[in-house]
Amino acid sequence: HCSALRRDIFGLRLLMPMAVRPGLTQFGWSDIGARDMMDLNGVTALVTGAGSGMGAATAKALAKRGARVAIVDLNLESAQQTADSINGLALGADVSSGESVEVALQQVVNELGAPRVVVSCAGIAAASRIVGREGPHELDLYQRVINVNLVGTFNVLRLTAERMSALDPVSDSGARGVIVNTASVAAYDGQIGQAAYSSSKGGVVALTLPAARELARFGIRVMTVAPGLIATPMLLDMPDEVQQSLAGQVPFPQRFGAPEEYADLVLHIVDNEMLNGEVIRFDGAIRLQPK
Ligand code: NAP
Repeated sequence: HCSALRRDIFGLRLLMPMAVRPGLTQFGWSDIGARDMMDLNGVTALVTGAGSGMGAATAKALAKRGARVAIVDLNLESAQQTADSINGLALGADVSSGESVEVALQQVVNELGAPRVVVSCAGIAAASRIVGREGPHELDLYQRVINVNLVGTFNVLRLTAERMSALDPVSDSGARGVIVNTASVAAYDGQIGQAAYSSSKGGVVALTLPAARELARFGIRVMTVAPGLIATPMLLDMPDEVQQSLAGQVPFPQRFGAPEEYADLVLHIVDNEMLNGEVIRFDGAIRLQPK
């Protein structure tokens, strides 16, 4: 009974002789699994929104692990700044435009090769009431936020996944790469004024599982991080009293997260092959209040 159960879990692996079973020894999983880190040396990584904040921190963390990093941002100057610090490739592109990302990606493929690690950090925040003092929420603003945060994330995912699917697998399990998206806790507990932003991030959350399911046949994992309050220009540009009130709402630790902590999580996701199709809240247990 026990062996039938194990066969269900591990599938055909148990039919292979012990010596060729990848990672399964008499002591359990040892040489693959959580310790089977993707060797990032020389691997191409692409990070959007990497001219600033969490994207910049992630680009630097990937470079530290030996990856060749393409830094994509709407703002080419800030992308170049990040690139200069890590000898990366800076590209100006608008993630919400099919053509713009295609052109940038082609340049990445030409100069660094197709990416195996893709991290979408490009995003914009907007605050507006559905019914405000000056009338209804501008439809344009709603569409712009959906376009950058949701359509942009999907656009990068679809184009990079196609390139990744043509690469050779790199692990015994047939892994080709991993795509990490950035949502927000506002996908779950959106505040008054966050109708557009929360809708866009909710879309990114809902995209995660179907994308992971579909891309599984190529050995491409899809994960999403939903940050709470992270100390980046997006947050630090808000008025001081807003920042203080927000920081006070984090149960523990009572502070903003650092972009480097977000980057650490992304690297763990890259390293840990069992993480797939899931959204990880990264928020010190905060649940945003209505306002
Ligand atoms: P950030 O410092 O403002 O960085 C975002 C970057 O994305 C900026 O460099 C921005 O360029 C770029 N960008 C904006 N629109 C773009 C477009 N259409 N195409 C390409 N690049 C574009 O923000 P961050 O805090 O690091 O945010 C990273 C992600 O985390 C975003 O998706 C954000 O929604 C999400 N997030 C942030 C927090 C937080 O507390 N900071 C919390 C939850 C979720 P420009 O400077 O030229 O606009």
